[in-house]
Amino acid sequence: MYFETRELSKEFGGLTAVKEVDFAIEKGKINAIIGPNGAGKSTFFNLITGLHRPSSGEVFFKDQEISHLSSNKIAELGIARTFQTTNLFERATVFDNVIVGHRLRTKTNLLDAILRTKRCKQEEEQCKEKAWEVLQATGLTHVATKIVTNISQEEKKRVAIALALATDPEVLFLDEPTAGINPDETNGLAGLITELAQMGITICLIEHKMKMIMQMADKIMVLNYGEKIAEGAPEEINKNEEVIRAYLGG
Ligand code: ADP
Ligand code: MG
Repeated sequence: MYFETRELSKEFGGLTAVKEVDFAIEKGKINAIIGPNGAGKSTFFNLITGLHRPSSGEVFFKDQEISHLSSNKIAELGIARTFQTTNLFERATVFDNVIVGHRLRTKTNLLDAILRTKRCKQEEEQCKEKAWEVLQATGLTHVATKIVTNISQEEKKRVAIALALATDPEVLFLDEPTAGINPDETNGLAGLITELAQMGITICLIEHKMKMIMQMADKIMVLNYGEKIAEGAPEEINKNEEVIRAYLGG
């Protein structure tokens, strides 16, 4: 068992956003979560990455129960994520966005930064190297010095992924990585995500674009009203009656 949730639930007041979800994320694979709006997909990610505490249930990563840990601690274990809405510093360069994102995630404390100790300087060099490395991995070196406002929507999505990669994650959670971009750009991003998986990063993504998911995912979980209604390989999901009903609202 690599990464799994056990009867994971989250209630907001009277609303059960996630209900007793058992899901195993397979190592080195592209794991996908689909489901209508409001199905609890983002909440599921928030529970796994420590932004929300579960109402009940557990999250296990490599035999450790992690749902009580802070999001920083969870990140240190090698779990990174992107958010449904990308929050970048629009007036800074792509490179600086990655640097700042990386600093916010590394452990140099404020006093260190102010005193500019040797350790901090060393870390600064490492920080820059890391930034170039992740810009390369995400195909962004040619826009590194551009101001974020001036890059394309797809490139912004790539920057968000670059930020997450700066922590050297083992597992990467992507919340609707292709939302709001055109089909060509979607293909580019799908290619990037597939490459990351080939590099050995375990991927778990939330996605609405069914065609893309059916082509790239190894495994799919379908959520509806907070509950897992189906799980399996794309070909199984494709012909699942309950899934078809949930999507068509019939
Ligand atoms: P999805 O990502 O599948 O569209 P969400 O996980 O964002 O769905 O939301 C699932 C349900 O939980 C929705 O009904 C939403 O309104 C509710 N919800 C999500 N976050 C909160 C919150 N912080 N407080 C109250 N309700 C929330
Ligand atoms: Mg969502």
